[in-house]
Amino acid sequence: ASIFNVSAMSFGSLSGNAIQALNKGAKQGGFYHNTGEGSVSPYHLKHGGDLVWQIGTGYFGCRDESGKFSDDLFAKTATKDNVKMIEIKLSQGAKPGHGGILPADKNTIEIAEIRAVKPGTRVDSPPAHKAFKTPLAMMLFIQKLRDLSGGKPVGFKLSVGRKSEFVAICKAMVETNIKPDFITVDGGEGGTGAAPLEYSNSVGMPLVEALVFIRDVLVGFDLKKDIKIIASGKVFTGFHLVRNLALGADVCNSARGMMVALGCVQSLVCNSNECPTGIATQDPTLEAGLVVGDKASRIARYQKETVRACMDLIASAGLRDPRQINRTHIHRRVSQTEIKRYDEIYPELTDGELLTENYPTRFEHEMKESSAECFMPNQ
Ligand code: SF4
Repeated sequence: ASIFNVSAMSFGSLSGNAIQALNKGAKQGGFYHNTGEGSVSPYHLKHGGDLVWQIGTGYFGCRDESGKFSDDLFAKTATKDNVKMIEIKLSQGAKPGHGGILPADKNTIEIAEIRAVKPGTRVDSPPAHKAFKTPLAMMLFIQKLRDLSGGKPVGFKLSVGRKSEFVAICKAMVETNIKPDFITVDGGEGGTGAAPLEYSNSVGMPLVEALVFIRDVLVGFDLKKDIKIIASGKVFTGFHLVRNLALGADVCNSARGMMVALGCVQSLVCNSNECPTGIATQDPTLEAGLVVGDKASRIARYQKETVRACMDLIASAGLRDPRQINRTHIHRRVSQTEIKRYDEIYPELTDGELLTENYPTRFEHEMKESSAECFMPNQ
């Protein structure tokens, strides 16, 4: 995998041609393409680009008739060659803690078949998962997906809300000794046309703080050595990649950057089916305006040039490898007269520090109110 990849965007929200262009671009450039929670469509499979299959609370593509997770359907898609990793979506930056709706008029025969739902009906994605209710059960679910997929990497995506929920998940990892292979941290600034404005603008921890928090807690529980961190949320430029790597990410994803490379003109009518560029529409006439081969090359070029810019910046800092960059390399202005290094603003924990009695007091509240037995404190 590359350090820069295509973030989650579903077929259904995007047109078949847009999905094909993203996947073909990913194949050309050697990076991966996250399916979003709308399941794996034939458009994802046509060009052979690597896929991360995202599974949300609607279990699209792996649900039985009652909407419950289906082992058999999951295994059928998860074992496909193109599917390289599985991502369980707990929440997303655009609307953490909020469910979703597939309206009846958007639930066409094609989309219904791909998502394993009944066409022409309204399908709800609840805010929380039904396949597990506690952090401990979530670890068992991760192991189950790993087994059913034939041992592929399994991770989860979240936008940080109440911090103790993530500490509870880490406690469950320690207790069960089952760990995800990766965690995708979505900044609260991440967007989608399908989110209520208050959620998009005001809910979910911003990426910088969320990334620092996730990294610190993983290091504190001595888990980071086994888990990769993927950062997403307004990642457009080489500098954004460098900043996220310095703060603790191993890899970054971008949705909007890739959309602009696809030709998005930010007209923001994504939910109207009238997207003028053929990206966010199921109207065949508009979709025909998006030429797959042309846009695939643009996606591949944008990704390559952004990674090149990131590597230039890393070389300018006197480093040879993106893995060498850390919090000491980046400064931030904290007042009119003062700048600080990131490690001064966000001091690093040592491996396993949260497993001792003497952890920093800034974690006291979260450590005390979290338990591997429930996501929410005091339940
Ligand atoms: S061009 Fe407009 S409608 Fe189409 S994807 Fe971009 S913002 Fe959405």
